[in-house]
Amino acid sequence: MNRKLLKPYVNSMAGSNMVVIQCPHCGEDVELEDDASGLFDCPHCHNNFDWNGDFQSSDLKAKFLLFLFSIFSPSILFITSLWLMVSVFSPRSFEIILYLVISLGICALYTISLAIYGGLKKNKPLLQGALLSIGATYLTIFMMGELL
Ligand SMILES: [Zn+2]
Repeated sequence: MNRKLLKPYVNSMAGSNMVVIQCPHCGEDVELEDDASGLFDCPHCHNNFDWNGDFQSSDLKAKFLLFLFSIFSPSILFITSLWLMVSVFSPRSFEIILYLVISLGICALYTISLAIYGGLKKNKPLLQGALLSIGATYLTIFMMGELL
């Protein structure tokens, strides 16, 4: 059995990225390292519990909301930035295409940073949503290219 002992409290305070989870046996708060995984001893009730280090693996609702956020926030950003530029500069027919391209660029940059952040934080729902969004953006650019 691959059992890991929790670090003493003083040591865990020194670590940079800590997560607080609830022990499945006694419900007390337990501090773990951000990327910790395996079998742990609860310092309160001394029962073993499994933790895989995945982002809030038990919290499906939070996962789903993050997934939705990373899918829809790029398109909201795209529409908002386009709307802002059009209302500020009030472009003539041809210039709208330029602002459309700039907005798409901002949107793509944002989505890529979201995906990188999700990947670094091992935040799978954020990463998957962002990747889906990148796919959608690519498709939009492709379709615009076909139309023009
Ligand atoms: Zn416990």
